[in-house]
Amino acid sequence: MSSDDEGAEEYLFKIVIIGDSAVGKSNLLSRYARNEFNLHSKATIGVEFQTQSMEIDGKEVKAQIWDTAGQERFRAVTSAYYRGAVGALVVYDISRRTTFDSVGRWLDELNTHCDTTVARMLVGNKCDLENIRSVSIEDGKSLAEAEGLFFMETSALDSTNVKTAFEMVIREIYNNIS
Ligand code: GDP
Ligand code: MG
Repeated sequence: MSSDDEGAEEYLFKIVIIGDSAVGKSNLLSRYARNEFNLHSKATIGVEFQTQSMEIDGKEVKAQIWDTAGQERFRAVTSAYYRGAVGALVVYDISRRTTFDSVGRWLDELNTHCDTTVARMLVGNKCDLENIRSVSIEDGKSLAEAEGLFFMETSALDSTNVKTAFEMVIREIYNNIS
């Protein structure tokens, strides 16, 4: 920081989004960063990351949020993806049980690449699909409790909790370092 910048501290946090294919990772990011949703999003449309700012304690905090851009289909998200991450959203789809069953593996992978101070949130996405729900809120909550994660159900489609989920993670990272 240069001295003429006094009082204008800058924070930049890298956050990764992980989880099985088609759980809605890319749409959660586009909803949060651009307020956009795409019904037919292609897994390969790969913007590496998007940056979004928020204010905490009068300071500008920037989150650089990374999307897998479809790498997860090959079960090989590279270590470069995780490098330097201080926050993570681990996403499953509440209408597809198998994506919830995969959460443990994603957490293992996260733990392999990042240390435990990473702010982690379990996200049950597509909560608008209540009629075909196959993972109960209770199941989500108890897994999160057992693993020491925050938990939230979201919908990238109707925007439920999307901003809240990202901002909770960003605040937690900020709390961890200040
Ligand atoms: P990704 O592979 O995890 O990045 O998933 P995408 O963001 O590409 O989404 C996969 C599919 O799920 C797309 O057809 C999206 O339109 C759809 N989708 C994503 N989020 C939601 C949601 O919250 N509700 C519903 N109903 N569909 C969603
Ligand atoms: Mg995607």
